[in-house]
Amino acid sequence: MKPDTPLHNAPTDAAARKAVTPVICYPTDGLARPDLAPFHAARAGWRKVSEALVPPREARCFDVPAGHFFRITSVQGPQVGDLNLWAAQDLSERFFSGKTRALHGTHLSAGDRMWSCLPYLRPMALITDDSLDWYGFDAFGGSVHDVIGTRCDPYTHNLLGGGQYHHCCHSNLTRAVADRFGLPLHAAEFAVHDVLNVFMCTGFARETGQYFMKASPVRPGDYLEFFAEIDLVGGLSACPGGDCSTLHSSDQAACHPLLVEVFAPLSLPAGWVAPQANGYNRSHGR
Ligand SMILES: [Zn+2]
Repeated sequence: MKPDTPLHNAPTDAAARKAVTPVICYPTDGLARPDLAPFHAARAGWRKVSEALVPPREARCFDVPAGHFFRITSVQGPQVGDLNLWAAQDLSERFFSGKTRALHGTHLSAGDRMWSCLPYLRPMALITDDSLDWYGFDAFGGSVHDVIGTRCDPYTHNLLGGGQYHHCCHSNLTRAVADRFGLPLHAAEFAVHDVLNVFMCTGFARETGQYFMKASPVRPGDYLEFFAEIDLVGGLSACPGGDCSTLHSSDQAACHPLLVEVFAPLSLPAGWVAPQANGYNRSHGR
């Protein structure tokens, strides 16, 4: 955080320096904004091929073949979910929260993509529908579905308050990965990565820049829908924070399950082309 009383005096041209207009780091003019109409049309007659009910304070993995859709739906009560994605054939290709944020902004919605980490950097999933898109940004600068948080984890919990808590999203996802891939816990843990915070309402406090959360506006029936651009394994944790209105990293918040459904369309969305490997040649100047 910035100091209340800086040690260094502002230079005489401080006001001019601060008045410089910002520029967007990654203009996305070169990234075609997908036309969602063919994706919405492809939902007609789709067939549900699997579903998973993620219990409160637990996580589950689910498989989504390329060309299928998956939906995360709030059931029973307001609940936040922490989402990880991996390439089904290669756990090292995983969702890149930071670059997705750099490309699409702090909070995602329909039309945004979830990008994979370096050296892959290709679309893993396209968000095709968001029943909370009406929320936009609130008066506090908050919004839903952020890529600014990481995931609640027992190490930060221990660092800040001590104690051993085992149902943070990090641990929930670790157990789910261990079960899905047949890995020991300590190996599975390294596959867990920064998340898309589904339904979570977050932002940065204007005065201090601190990460804040507030009660999610999600209600039963709300959903976030994705189209898998490559074969995926997803991991979803029903966060112990519940609607994240007050506390997380404990069993005190009211928590609810989350429903994941996978759908096979009758035909692929018109014009959709499976993403290619990233075009950089990886010579790194040598
Ligand atoms: Zn969590």
